[in-house]
Amino acid sequence: MLWDFDGTLAWRPGLWGGCVLEVLDELAPGHTAELEKVRAVLKGGFPWDRHTEPHPHLSSPDAWWETVTPLLSRAIRGCVEEARVPELAHAVRLRFIDASKQWRVFDDTRSALGTTASTGWRNVVLSNHVPELSTLVAQLGLGDLVERVFSSATTGYEKPHPEAFRVALRACGNPARRWMVGDNPIADVAGAEALGIPAILVRTNGRARQTAKDVAAAAKLIVRTFAGDTGGTRDPAQATLLSKEET
Ligand SMILES: [Mg+2]
Repeated sequence: MLWDFDGTLAWRPGLWGGCVLEVLDELAPGHTAELEKVRAVLKGGFPWDRHTEPHPHLSSPDAWWETVTPLLSRAIRGCVEEARVPELAHAVRLRFIDASKQWRVFDDTRSALGTTASTGWRNVVLSNHVPELSTLVAQLGLGDLVERVFSSATTGYEKPHPEAFRVALRACGNPARRWMVGDNPIADVAGAEALGIPAILVRTNGRARQTAKDVAAAAKLIVRTFAGDTGGTRDPAQATLLSKEET
């Protein structure tokens, strides 16, 4: 059971731009940064914005952050004293991976993960994210319900790159039954479906073959789809049809 993380199981209000502003407000009062301008600089600059380019060579946290820190520095530059840019960019790194700073788990996340876990599914997080994602998952109190965490920063492949999914599935023994649940119609849903993995789009009005209002609804749909299935493989296309009828 592959779950996207950000926007699916948990979220950080304000995302990266918000994190930059929080750091500046706290450590550099009097800065001249504005959220919209910071966001405009960051837009399109993260590794997941270049999902066709694998980056397994950046799999250590420091290597990954070394490629992202210049982007964070650009967003800060001009808004504070130049000499403080490196220190503040580093503070953004530390704050973003601190679960106690703004990160929130959706209300239905634990019940959704519990529903699938209690019916024999293995919960796996598959996310385009930072190298410290597994720590974040644990600090947010989801460690008991999540068996494995695969972050693109560590695997080197960003969804919807097919290898992002294959790495996770291979590590889990290539199970015959698998689903992807996420809030991004391209990275999560189209990426999974391209490999024949049935997928459910959640928490958005975007278009997809299968949608659910939240992860609790998605978990129920998956469990119902396989109810009575004692382990034989079922054609994912058949499961898709069945779950559509049941919706
Ligand atoms: Mg997401």
